[in-house]
Amino acid sequence: MTQPAALDELMTLVDPGKVLTDPESLQAYGKDWTRYYPPAPSAIVLPRTIEQVQAIVRWANAHRVALVPSGGRTGLSAGAVAASGEVVVAFDYMNRILDFNAFDRTVVCQPGVITQQVQAFAEEQGLYYPVDFASSGSSQIGGNIGTNAGGIKVIRYGMTRNWVAGLKVVTGSGELLELNKGLIKNATGYDLRQLFIGAEGTLGFVVEATLRLDRAPRNLTAMVLGTPDFDSIMPVLHAFQGKLDLTAFEFFSDKGLAKILARGDVPAPFETPCPFYALLEFEAGTEAVANEALATFEHCVEQGWVLDGVMSQSQTQLKNLWKLREYLSETISHWTPYKNDISVTVSKVPAFLRDIDAVVQAHYPHYEVIWYGHIGDGNLHLNILKPEHMSKDDFFASCTEVNKWVFEIVQRYDGSISAEHGVGMTKRDYLGYSRSPEEIACMKAIKAVFDPAGIMNPGKIFAPE
Ligand SMILES: Cc1cc2nc3c(=O)[nH]c(=O)nc-3n(C[C@H](O)[C@H](O)[C@H](O)COP(=O)(O)OP(=O)(O)OC[C@H]3O[C@@H](n4cnc5c(N)ncnc54)[C@H](O)[C@@H]3O)c2cc1C
Repeated sequence: MTQPAALDELMTLVDPGKVLTDPESLQAYGKDWTRYYPPAPSAIVLPRTIEQVQAIVRWANAHRVALVPSGGRTGLSAGAVAASGEVVVAFDYMNRILDFNAFDRTVVCQPGVITQQVQAFAEEQGLYYPVDFASSGSSQIGGNIGTNAGGIKVIRYGMTRNWVAGLKVVTGSGELLELNKGLIKNATGYDLRQLFIGAEGTLGFVVEATLRLDRAPRNLTAMVLGTPDFDSIMPVLHAFQGKLDLTAFEFFSDKGLAKILARGDVPAPFETPCPFYALLEFEAGTEAVANEALATFEHCVEQGWVLDGVMSQSQTQLKNLWKLREYLSETISHWTPYKNDISVTVSKVPAFLRDIDAVVQAHYPHYEVIWYGHIGDGNLHLNILKPEHMSKDDFFASCTEVNKWVFEIVQRYDGSISAEHGVGMTKRDYLGYSRSPEEIACMKAIKAVFDPAGIMNPGKIFAPE
């Protein structure tokens, strides 16, 4: 734990009252959405300026105190969890949009700006920030950059990385680096900005970001299609991708739909029960595009790939169809799910899912399993629900045993053990299934350059040695 004298010194580095040590704050700021590791930070510090962040880092180096960067704490890998007496650095008071350039289509944000705030700001300018997911009302830009967040629009717009034009970071030794300065073209050697995106706060703090915005999409329209089996989803994706520029292609299983309908506040898409559902979205800017979508739907029905379907005719219907997918993560959180967030190249998805499903069925016959995910990106979310009577520890221990078999399949398919949620603490023991020993050695060497004393988020990405 951090010594009281060191904490007294920390208090002199930030605004009055911005170091918190009361039990409620330690609980609230010490965890993320995983809620598995009991939070145990020494203190929470809330800087207001970049200079204060630098002073905190220098203080941490001097006292050998570990720092945990904290955003909206919606992370699903325990990346922002402080379970071992660390000091949490939270950005609630660095939450302003600083600048906007209509010509460059860029917006400059402090790290604590909420993702949805950027989306709303872009909309006010007649533009669009396309990184979007169910937690965007709580997650922060610093956390999104820390995890290289993906979400529901990746098939068209890519991950957070694609939208970061420039970054200011404070490294683990307290230096301020200004990376790429918003440029589109910059061929001057290593692009250090990219190293900080997805680094889960292990190299330093993101203290400012210049984000790109896009033109606003026109008349977004969604379809939900029911398929007779999982294999049919892929030819449906192929057929629609051949005709339309999709902005999303998601899937969920009948078990997932049942959980959503049981809430009572989301209408069923149609009557026909189907084992799997695809949700796709596109811009229906002209009637010709809408007609093309309907013709493709009919073709999929004729081929036997689709049993039933519905297309949104209004913004309300569009929103209701999205609720079927967007509410899933939060709805099933009631059953404390054990989550795997795995990916392979899109063409390998059907065989990959079949192999994983066989392992899961063999080892979890008594658990309820919910599949959903960003199937257009090859990203599957496998959720094992905890039986009501079972303790959280026993449940997680039994799920962890099966990870080995799941990740062996991931490795065999050249896939990733974490598609978009990060490694954090939950997946750190499995990094070797996706990265070679040589790659991991390079990653550790890079960390040592930016964080020589190892104070930045230790125990995340890499297991403690
Ligand atoms: C209901 C739900 C749905 C979700 N859906 C998706 C989805 O579709 N796609 C997806 O990608 N994720 C999804 N997530 C996961 C999560 O929302 C994202 O990972 C998000 O980017 C985390 O942002 P945050 O601000 O909450 O970060 P936190 O959880 O606070 O932190 C995440 C990581 O970033 C680091 N970090 C935070 N701030 C900084 C900073 N300023 N500088 C450096 N490092 C920092 C932390 O140390 C940690 O390692 C979902 C989560 C929930 C609860």
